[in-house]
Amino acid sequence: MSLLSTELTARCRSKCEICNAGGKLYPFIVFPKTGNSVDEQVAICGVCKEQMENVDKIDVTHWRCLNESVWSTVPAVQVLAYRMLGTLSDQDWAHDLQGNIYMDDETLEWAETKMVNTVHMDCNGKILESGDTVVLIKDLDVKGANFSAKRGTAVRRILLVQDNPDQIEGRVNDQQIIILTKYVKKSV
Ligand SMILES: [Zn+2]
Repeated sequence: MSLLSTELTARCRSKCEICNAGGKLYPFIVFPKTGNSVDEQVAICGVCKEQMENVDKIDVTHWRCLNESVWSTVPAVQVLAYRMLGTLSDQDWAHDLQGNIYMDDETLEWAETKMVNTVHMDCNGKILESGDTVVLIKDLDVKGANFSAKRGTAVRRILLVQDNPDQIEGRVNDQQIIILTKYVKKSV
Protein backbone atom coordinates (compact mmCIF):
# COMPACT_ATOMS: atom_id res chain seq x y z
CA MET A 1 0.00 0.00 0.00
CA SER A 2 1.32 3.40 -0.89
CA LEU A 3 1.70 6.07 1.76
CA LEU A 4 1.35 8.75 -0.86
CA SER A 5 -1.85 10.30 -2.07
CA THR A 6 -2.89 9.53 -5.64
CA GLU A 7 -2.03 13.08 -6.61
CA LEU A 8 1.45 12.91 -5.16
CA THR A 9 2.09 9.49 -6.70
CA ALA A 10 1.16 10.92 -10.09
CA ARG A 11 3.40 13.96 -9.69
CA CYS A 12 6.47 12.04 -8.55
CA ARG A 13 5.86 9.13 -10.97
CA SER A 14 6.64 6.76 -8.08
CA LYS A 15 10.20 8.09 -7.77
CA CYS A 16 11.84 9.97 -4.92
CA GLU A 17 11.56 13.63 -5.90
CA ILE A 18 14.95 14.35 -4.38
CA CYS A 19 17.17 11.46 -5.51
CA ASN A 20 15.00 9.69 -8.09
CA ALA A 21 15.11 6.34 -6.28
CA GLY A 22 12.15 3.99 -6.57
CA GLY A 23 10.80 1.72 -3.86
CA LYS A 24 8.93 2.79 -0.78
CA LEU A 25 8.18 6.51 -0.73
CA TYR A 26 7.04 8.75 2.08
CA PRO A 27 5.12 12.02 1.95
CA PHE A 28 7.30 14.71 3.53
CA ILE A 29 5.57 17.88 4.65
CA VAL A 30 7.71 20.91 4.01
CA PHE A 31 7.79 23.13 7.11
CA PRO A 32 6.03 25.44 8.00
CA LYS A 33 3.25 24.20 5.74
CA THR A 34 0.85 21.67 7.12
CA GLY A 35 0.66 19.30 4.19
CA ASN A 36 -3.00 19.97 3.50
CA SER A 37 -2.37 20.08 -0.20
CA VAL A 38 -0.02 18.08 -2.35
CA ASP A 39 1.85 21.32 -3.14
CA GLU A 40 3.13 21.28 0.43
CA GLN A 41 4.47 17.74 0.26
CA VAL A 42 7.43 16.04 -1.36
CA ALA A 43 7.65 12.32 -2.07
CA ILE A 44 10.92 11.04 -0.65
CA CYS A 45 12.59 7.66 -0.30
CA GLY A 46 13.69 6.04 2.94
CA VAL A 47 17.34 7.02 2.45
CA CYS A 48 16.56 10.70 1.94
CA LYS A 49 14.08 10.65 4.82
CA GLU A 50 16.47 9.08 7.31
CA GLN A 51 19.28 11.48 6.49
CA MET A 52 17.04 14.52 6.52
CA GLU A 53 15.79 13.60 9.95
CA ASN A 54 19.19 12.64 11.36
CA VAL A 55 21.79 15.18 10.40
CA ASP A 56 24.54 13.02 11.93
CA LYS A 57 23.75 10.23 9.43
CA ILE A 58 24.33 12.39 6.37
CA ASP A 59 26.26 10.73 3.60
CA VAL A 60 27.50 13.63 1.49
CA THR A 61 27.78 11.60 -1.73
CA HIS A 62 24.10 10.72 -1.62
CA TRP A 63 23.21 14.39 -1.79
CA ARG A 64 24.94 14.96 -5.10
CA CYS A 65 21.43 14.15 -6.35
CA LEU A 66 20.55 17.73 -5.42
CA ASN A 67 22.33 18.81 -8.60
CA GLU A 68 19.23 17.52 -10.39
CA SER A 69 16.45 18.13 -7.90
CA VAL A 70 17.11 21.85 -7.41
CA TRP A 71 15.86 22.30 -10.98
CA SER A 72 12.51 20.75 -10.16
CA THR A 73 9.49 22.78 -11.21
CA VAL A 74 7.77 21.89 -7.94
CA PRO A 75 8.33 24.64 -5.35
CA ALA A 76 8.17 22.22 -2.39
CA VAL A 77 10.98 20.16 -3.93
CA GLN A 78 13.05 23.28 -4.54
CA VAL A 79 12.56 24.37 -0.95
CA LEU A 80 13.64 21.01 0.42
CA ALA A 81 16.66 20.87 -1.90
CA TYR A 82 17.64 24.43 -0.98
CA ARG A 83 17.50 23.66 2.73
CA MET A 84 19.49 20.47 2.31
CA LEU A 85 22.19 22.41 0.48
CA GLY A 86 22.24 24.78 3.43
CA THR A 87 22.87 21.83 5.74
CA LEU A 88 25.72 20.74 3.47
CA SER A 89 27.14 24.23 2.99
CA ASP A 90 30.58 23.22 4.27
CA GLN A 91 30.90 21.40 0.93
CA ASP A 92 32.02 23.79 -1.79
CA TRP A 93 29.81 22.25 -4.49
CA ALA A 94 26.74 22.54 -2.23
CA HIS A 95 27.52 26.12 -1.33
CA ASP A 96 27.97 27.06 -5.00
CA LEU A 97 24.86 25.22 -6.09
CA GLN A 98 22.74 26.92 -3.45
CA GLY A 99 23.92 30.26 -4.74
CA ASN A 100 22.92 29.36 -8.29
CA ILE A 101 19.38 28.15 -7.71
CA TYR A 102 16.71 30.21 -9.29
CA MET A 103 13.60 30.54 -7.17
CA ASP A 104 10.82 33.08 -7.21
CA ASP A 105 10.59 35.38 -4.17
CA GLU A 106 7.76 33.48 -2.58
CA THR A 107 9.57 30.16 -2.81
CA LEU A 108 12.78 31.67 -1.49
CA GLU A 109 10.95 33.10 1.49
CA TRP A 110 9.46 29.68 2.17
CA ALA A 111 12.89 28.06 1.88
CA GLU A 112 14.43 30.51 4.32
CA THR A 113 11.79 30.06 7.00
CA LYS A 114 13.65 28.68 9.97
CA MET A 115 12.43 25.79 12.00
CA VAL A 116 11.80 27.31 15.39
CA ASN A 117 10.71 24.55 17.64
CA THR A 118 11.45 25.37 21.21
CA VAL A 119 8.08 24.41 22.54
CA HIS A 120 7.70 21.16 24.47
CA MET A 121 4.56 19.31 23.46
CA ASP A 122 3.02 16.04 24.59
CA CYS A 123 1.89 13.22 22.27
CA ASN A 124 -1.27 15.14 21.45
CA GLY A 125 0.47 18.43 20.74
CA LYS A 126 -0.52 20.00 24.08
CA ILE A 127 2.07 22.42 25.37
CA LEU A 128 3.99 21.23 28.42
CA GLU A 129 5.33 23.46 31.14
CA SER A 130 7.64 22.90 34.06
CA GLY A 131 5.66 21.63 37.02
CA ASP A 132 3.07 19.80 34.94
CA THR A 133 2.01 16.25 35.64
CA VAL A 134 2.18 13.82 32.75
CA VAL A 135 1.23 10.19 32.26
CA LEU A 136 3.40 7.74 30.32
CA ILE A 137 1.62 6.34 27.29
CA LYS A 138 3.92 3.32 26.89
CA ASP A 139 6.38 1.22 28.87
CA LEU A 140 9.80 2.85 28.70
CA ASP A 141 13.15 1.21 29.26
CA VAL A 142 15.22 3.57 31.29
CA LYS A 143 18.78 3.82 30.04
CA GLY A 144 21.35 3.29 32.73
CA ALA A 145 18.82 1.93 35.21
CA ASN A 146 17.49 -1.58 35.41
CA PHE A 147 13.83 -0.88 35.41
CA SER A 148 11.22 0.09 32.95
CA ALA A 149 8.79 2.86 33.61
CA LYS A 150 5.33 1.45 33.13
CA ARG A 151 2.65 2.82 30.91
CA GLY A 152 0.13 4.77 32.96
CA THR A 153 2.70 5.99 35.49
CA ALA A 154 2.07 9.57 36.52
CA VAL A 155 5.15 11.77 36.60
CA ARG A 156 4.67 14.87 38.72
CA ARG A 157 6.42 18.22 38.56
CA ILE A 158 8.27 17.62 35.34
CA LEU A 159 11.13 19.85 34.22
CA LEU A 160 11.63 20.90 30.63
CA VAL A 161 15.01 20.06 29.12
CA GLN A 162 16.33 23.35 27.79
CA ASP A 163 17.51 23.34 24.17
CA ASN A 164 15.73 20.08 23.47
CA PRO A 165 11.98 20.35 22.97
CA ASP A 166 11.75 16.56 22.61
CA GLN A 167 12.77 15.88 26.18
CA ILE A 168 11.53 16.44 29.70
CA GLU A 169 12.89 15.33 33.05
CA GLY A 170 10.90 13.69 35.77
CA ARG A 171 11.08 11.37 38.75
CA VAL A 172 10.12 7.75 38.29
CA ASN A 173 10.98 5.07 40.90
CA ASP A 174 12.82 7.75 42.84
CA GLN A 175 15.16 8.38 39.96
CA GLN A 176 15.36 11.50 37.88
CA ILE A 177 15.09 10.36 34.28
CA ILE A 178 14.86 11.90 30.83
CA ILE A 179 11.62 11.16 29.03
CA LEU A 180 10.74 11.84 25.42
CA THR A 181 7.76 14.15 25.12
CA LYS A 182 6.16 11.96 22.46
CA TYR A 183 5.64 9.26 25.07
CA VAL A 184 3.77 11.39 27.57
CA LYS A 185 0.30 12.80 27.87
CA LYS A 186 -0.39 15.92 29.85
CA SER A 187 -2.60 15.21 32.80
CA VAL A 188 -5.39 17.71 33.40
ZN1 LIG B 1 15.62 9.83 -2.13
